[in-house]
Amino acid sequence: MSLAPSGPDGIRRESMHRRHRLASLCAARLSRLGAAARGLAVPALAGLLLLLAPLAAAADPVAQAARVVGDDQQTRFVLDLDAPVDFVTFTLADPYRVVIDLPEIEFALPPDAGSVGRGLVTEWRYGLFATGKSRIILDLAGPAVIEEAYLQPSVEGLPARVVVSLGAATREAFLAAQEQQAVEPPSAPPPPEPQTPAGPRTRPLVVLDPGHGGFDPGASGPDGVIEKDITLAFALAMREALEDTGAVDVILTREDDRYISPGDRMIFAREQHADLLISIHADSLRQTNVRGTSVYTLSERASDQVTAQLAEQENRSVLLAGLQIEAAPTAVADILLDLTRMETRNLSVTFARALIEQIGETTSLLSNPHREDNFAVLRAPEVPSVLVELGFLSNTQDEAQLASAAWQRRVAAAMAAAVEGFTARQLAAWSG
Ligand SMILES: [Zn+2]
Repeated sequence: MSLAPSGPDGIRRESMHRRHRLASLCAARLSRLGAAARGLAVPALAGLLLLLAPLAAAADPVAQAARVVGDDQQTRFVLDLDAPVDFVTFTLADPYRVVIDLPEIEFALPPDAGSVGRGLVTEWRYGLFATGKSRIILDLAGPAVIEEAYLQPSVEGLPARVVVSLGAATREAFLAAQEQQAVEPPSAPPPPEPQTPAGPRTRPLVVLDPGHGGFDPGASGPDGVIEKDITLAFALAMREALEDTGAVDVILTREDDRYISPGDRMIFAREQHADLLISIHADSLRQTNVRGTSVYTLSERASDQVTAQLAEQENRSVLLAGLQIEAAPTAVADILLDLTRMETRNLSVTFARALIEQIGETTSLLSNPHREDNFAVLRAPEVPSVLVELGFLSNTQDEAQLASAAWQRRVAAAMAAAVEGFTARQLAAWSG
């Protein structure tokens, strides 16, 4: 084990800003190298990148343990690491949260880490926030101020530690401290880097969007199946099925366990000029007998109480990520945009119906399987978009099914067939 040298008192604060800039520069250089290699497609460069990738991954500091200590007046969050890191902290109100941003680190923490808090911290979560950046979010029981935040370098074989001390405060004190914050709370991480297929597009482009990711796990089932894992596995299976048709190009909004806000998923599809966006989810309800697949298209208002409950859960993803909730876009008077929206909505509904018909032949559907809601990911004005709730993790039969690779492949193939039919009709309509 290699440990970084420590100061004589063991509690010397590192110079955060200097080190932080260095880390960002390295990350920027690496990603430029990546872009160059993709653009040139030089095998030697690609080989070099393959060599670099494991080295870079191995160099990520590892978070080995974390704990929350103290009481409802003073609480400390402590994270043990095998190497020193730079970090910044800031607070968010409504609900009260503390955010700790770090360079990319590997979290080797027990699966239930963060589920139980203490004192001022009710619970906490962590994960990859954007390329090269990890984030920890502490949910607070009430207003509190950050009294201290420092890196304690490793001493005599002990791990390096990130220490954040919180003190109970009034809302006024919380807001006053927030005003003084050096860090602007970011509205969202940058959208993922475009992975546009090489050359001019000759086939329709489908964006598959595996829901949730990173510190936003989504729903979970009684047997421990987690939505973010199911959505990614299913999207990968569906990409394979779509590529097998040879009819469309496919891009995923995420290919690993990372957080992307619902709005950025939609923006990504727009920037890619996608012809279709399919967002993949699996949900849970308090009513454990409810099961089956459903497909959502955009609506300005929730169609019933159950869907309102689901929308609340999906939009909660934004809160989980330590972002400010953005107001829904205001009505746009532009009549052209309205016409585009109307046409997109019609196409979305047409596709949703075709999708339901295909899925219904391979697996069970929820009653009234076509539903409407105002999910943020469905709001692209010009990209036909649907959100598929594959099933309910709260139902044990659905949970087992969702986790089955055979079921995923079967349903993914049915959905791919629906996509193929839809895009073929679109192409015929455009050329005719
Ligand atoms: Zn979901």
